[in-house]
This record gives sequence, structure tokens and C-alpha cells, in this order.
Amino acid sequence: METLPDILITKAFIGGEWRNAKTHFSVTNPANGKVLAEVPDLGREETLEAVAAAEAAWPNWKRRTAKERANLLRAWFEAIMAHQEDLARLMTLEQGKPIAESRGEVAYGASFVEFYAEEAKRMAGETLQSHGVDKRILVFRESIGVVAAVTPWNFPLAMITRKCAPALAAGCTVVIKPAEATPLTALALVRLAELAGLPAGVINVITASQPAAVGDVLTTDPRVRKFSFTGSTAVGKKLLAQCAGTVKKASMELGGNAPFIVFDDADLDAAVEGAIASKYRNSGQTCVCTNRFLVQSGVYDVFIEKLAARVKQLKVGNGLDAGVLQGPLINQAAVEKIEAHIADALEKGARLICGGKAHALGGTFFEPSIIADATSDMRVAQEETFGPLAPVFRFDTDEQAIAMANATNSGLAAYFYAKDYRRIWHVMEGLEYGMVAVNEGILSTELAPFGGVKESGLGREGSRHGLDEFTELKYVCVGGL
Ligand code: NAD
Repeated sequence: METLPDILITKAFIGGEWRNAKTHFSVTNPANGKVLAEVPDLGREETLEAVAAAEAAWPNWKRRTAKERANLLRAWFEAIMAHQEDLARLMTLEQGKPIAESRGEVAYGASFVEFYAEEAKRMAGETLQSHGVDKRILVFRESIGVVAAVTPWNFPLAMITRKCAPALAAGCTVVIKPAEATPLTALALVRLAELAGLPAGVINVITASQPAAVGDVLTTDPRVRKFSFTGSTAVGKKLLAQCAGTVKKASMELGGNAPFIVFDDADLDAAVEGAIASKYRNSGQTCVCTNRFLVQSGVYDVFIEKLAARVKQLKVGNGLDAGVLQGPLINQAAVEKIEAHIADALEKGARLICGGKAHALGGTFFEPSIIADATSDMRVAQEETFGPLAPVFRFDTDEQAIAMANATNSGLAAYFYAKDYRRIWHVMEGLEYGMVAVNEGILSTELAPFGGVKESGLGREGSRHGLDEFTELKYVCVGGL
């Protein structure tokens, strides 16, 4: 077995105690299929206990001064950064991404803890003009209560801190349910929170191989006041419906179908670099990954040629090996999905430019791929491929590009490359997306509100708006003055 970092305790964490269970499930390395560790397989009873622990810890946690909470978050941030290498290696082992990307994710994930340590001190209400001379209007901003955080495997650390840091800053307590493929990073992260001094019950983690039982409690228990989910649109819709029974405040960070538009006047070399970052990072397994390249006729052939030249240089392999830029896919189902999307597109007339099949390394490694002449009737036009496939669509006019970009139920991230400033404004305003990157291939930062429109989600994470998601407004009318 691989040596795992000392900070990792392979048990669940409930009410400040590391808890074992009668049954366990295996966490495997997608680069070689070997088992890395066994973790407790918990269910309904333990989830109820975790909710009770979080509920019990809430009054004292919210009563602390903002500065005290900020100092604890700051200590957690420093502990994460002091263990950046341990966390990055652990993440590559269980998730597969190249080690440089894992280091980047640790820093990105930690940045939310740092940011909300600062923001905690700025949470504020307001006084408003009143509707009578003898009355005053006060608006308090209060912590919402117990938060449930359910997170995906593609960003095993950052998706947790992006929820927990603002929740804790606001005075909430949390129960985390990490993805079954990547619970180890979550457990190491929470161990660091414990070492940083976060009080018992303030942060809890439930590991489970069967998420539905845990999800049922977290979406229906009235003590949980906020349900914050990141994952697929299908699961998100189901859980949002489950939240309706207790009218829970919910945030949903769901799937995308990002367009990446290249106009005739674009700097093509910059566009290719942006395309590599936005498409092939994490082997194409990010929610803001480009899913569709829309390229204007005048630069169509040359863009494909330049992109293919770069894609052929991407070294595929074990994420821990030097120079590797693309790791394995998370599992066999992910390989089957990309294969099905390619087969469907080729059958409907697309042209294979490069890649197109499982990699000679075997396992879940897949060749970085490009197909040209994609059309709207293909699965790649409507479904998130979530793999290293770049389908290229052709367009002629700006209006066509905007219409094609918007012809989807998703609305998370969109990218475009152009120089003409009128075009830039027109396209920026025409895109129905929560996030738009102009002449840029990566847009995630703790400083900006991250989130989608349409079926890509509800709510925002990051920036000061991310804190509001974990608060309620209380209006107090003081009369008789
Ligand atoms: P998933 O929906 O399969 O799983 C996400 C989480 O939900 C996991 O922890 C899983 O165990 C849990 N889950 C599944 N069924 C559940 C149930 N019935 N009750 C409770 N929990 C349940 O998604 P995934 O495959 O882990 O992640 C990939 C998806 O996440 C992609 O669609 C991607 O676009 C999306 N994603 C979105 C964002 C964003 O910010 N918008 C970020 C990362 C990933």
C-alpha cells in the first residue's frame, strides 16, 4: 500500500470524535486501481448524530466574536498551506490529477479559508429609513444554522472549503458528505481544522459508499437549515426537490456545458493556450471545462491545426510522474461516456482530428481528443462529456455564435476570444451564463462570485456574496418611539 500522510485519520469525524464503523469501503487510486485505504461506511444513524452534534455546537459558535472565528479560520488556512505537499499528494493518489494541479487546488481551496477569515469581520446588517416618525427599521444579518455540504470528487478539497469557510465565518456549523471516490482529502482537511482548534461539533464529516441514506437525512431533517450541494445536475435536482419538504435554503453548483468561442479577430495563439487550460485541465473533468468549441469560419481550420499541435504534446500518465499533464479519468463509467460521445459524433458526420480512444496505458487513461465539424444534433452539443474531448463547431456570424452558445439548459461558464471592443461588449452581454471569461481560459478565484444560471445552479460561492448564502436577514421594527 502507498504511504499516506500522517495527518490522515481514516475515520469519520462526529462531534469532535474520530469514529469507526462495523463496515468499511475502499478508496482506490484511479491511476492503477490499487486500494489506498478503507474508510467507515456510515448511514442514517450516524448522519443523525452528526446533525445533532452540529446543532449542539451552533449556539456557542455563533456567539463567539467574529474575530475569534476569523482567528480560527486563519489558523486552519495556515495549517492547510503548511501541509500543501501532503494534501496534494493525497489528492493525486485518490483523484488522479497531475500533482501540479493538486498543489494548485490546495492553494485555491485554502484561499477561501483565508478570504472568509477576513470577511467574517465584515458581516453586517443595516438600519433603514423608517415608515413612521415613531419607528425605526433595523436589519440584522444572522447565521442560518446547521449547514450540510455535499461535494463531488473532481475537486476533493476546494469544493469543501468553498462551502465550509463562508459557513463557519458566518457562525454556522457544518456536516460534510464528501464524494465516495475521494473521502481521504476531506478527512485530512478536517483533521487540520481540528488541529487548528475548531471546537468539537463545529465541523463533522460522514463517509459513506451509499450517499442516498445520508442525503435523505441532510435534505429532510429540519435541524439542517441550509443544504449546499456541488455535483451533477441530475442528483442536484433530486436533492433540491427533497429540500422542499422542510423549505430549506439550498445552493446548487451543478453541471455546465461551457462554450469556448473563437472569433476571426482573436489572438489564436492565446486562444489555444486558453483552450488547453479550460479543456484539458483535470482531464476535462471540471464543471467549468469547455464542452464545445465554437469557431468562426475564417479561422476554423487554422485554430484546429494549432490546437491539435498542442494537444498532441500533452503527456498522459500517473499524476505523480514528472511532466504528466493529463492523469487518468475517475472511473470506467467516465471512459464509457467519452467513448459514447465520440462514437455518436463520428456516426453523425464529425471528423476525428486526434485521439479518440482509450490510451495505450490502459486502465482509465484516455487520449486527449479533438473532433471537428460537430453539429447540434450530436450528444456533445447538449451533454457534459466530462472528459478530454474537444468537439469543434463552425459558425459564421456573431449572432449565430451567441445563439449556439445559449442553446443549452446549462449556464455556468462561457469563454470567448476576440479583439474588437464592440464585439466584446455585445457578446459578453449576450451570453446567458453565470460566468464569462474574455480572452482568458481560467476564471476561478475566491475573489469572484462563482455559480451558474438556468439548470447549472442556484446561489454563488466565493466573494462577499458567498457569505450571504449562509445568513438570514432579520428585520426588526422598533415602534412607540
Ligand atoms: P454526483 O452528482 O454524482 O455526486 C456529487 C455528490 O453527491 C457526491 O458526494 C455523491 O456521493 C452525492 N450524491 C449522489 N447521490 C446522492 C443522493 N441521492 N443523496 C445525497 N448525496 C448524493 O457528481 P460527481 O460525479 O461527483 O461530480 C461531477 C459533477 O459535478 C459534474 O456534473 C460537474 O459539472 C459537477 N460539478 C459542478 C461544480 C460547480 O461548481 N458548478 C463544481 C464541480 C463539479
